[in-house]
Amino acid sequence: MDTVDKKTRSEIMSKIRSKNTKPELLVRKFLFSKGYRYRIHNKKLPGSPDIVFTKNKIAIFINGCFWHGHDCDIFHLPKSNVEYWKEKLDKNRERDLVKKDELLKLDYKVYTIWECELVKSKIDETFNNLIDFLVQNKK
Ligand SMILES: [Zn+2]
Repeated sequence: MDTVDKKTRSEIMSKIRSKNTKPELLVRKFLFSKGYRYRIHNKKLPGSPDIVFTKNKIAIFINGCFWHGHDCDIFHLPKSNVEYWKEKLDKNRERDLVKKDELLKLDYKVYTIWECELVKSKIDETFNNLIDFLVQNKK
């Protein structure tokens, strides 16, 4: 049974999809504090990556676990409209893979950070790994 009307649903979705989410801001703030300068939401690139280092050809995605269908503790399918969401999120996962592939073909390095990796207990490790990646791929 459809318990959410179309308008409400599209409102929910636009919220989930919105840019400048909390996880994104966390990562951006961290990188900025470390002296990194970057571009955000580069629409010219496939998937308009959340953070881009143009010169070093690095694209970083900060993915919300729900919207991008991450197989983790945070992710739960909504109890209503299960089929709808399943299909929707499968498509999102698929699209993420396609976009990543397109970026790789453009000779970009792609790095993905998940929302669940930014919880207090994991955030230090996540940021350390990110810095390692950036240092290794510096041109
Ligand atoms: Zn996750």
